[in-house]
Amino acid sequence: MARRPNGRAVKKHRSYTVDEAARTLNVTKGTVRRWMKDGDLPALTDQRPTLILGHDLIAFLDGRRRDRKTCQLHQAYCFRCRAPGDPAYGEVEIKLDTNGAGMMEALCATCTTVMHKRVSASRLPELQAKVKVTIKQAPARIGESAQPCPIGHFKKAR
Ligand SMILES: [Zn+2]
Repeated sequence: MARRPNGRAVKKHRSYTVDEAARTLNVTKGTVRRWMKDGDLPALTDQRPTLILGHDLIAFLDGRRRDRKTCQLHQAYCFRCRAPGDPAYGEVEIKLDTNGAGMMEALCATCTTVMHKRVSASRLPELQAKVKVTIKQAPARIGESAQPCPIGHFKKAR
């Protein structure tokens, strides 16, 4: 059972009651009502039953996903704010490994939590155009293979 509401199950050209939308997305009716109440999900509330247009529902789910996950190049996801965070003071630090892959570290401008994300070295000039970048070259470690998994890398770094 999928935990994340799946917008792909929604049909663009049909309309949904709260109950149908909840069942289609595998969420509770309360969740759907909250989406409507918070004002982000448009619904035809001047009629009974209240109807949600499939096309509005898809746009809402897309928007939510984008807001929550997508960072611009100079931003990183802040786990505390649960949103993309701007680097505090417009400064980031990049640790480059020997493969030319970089790990960006910055403080969230909102809550100063440390944020990390992977940045390819080829995008550094683009990044430097937006924020002040301090580059730290990781010392070459002989005999140690590259760690391809970002999760593994993250655990290891802690
Ligand atoms: Zn934050």
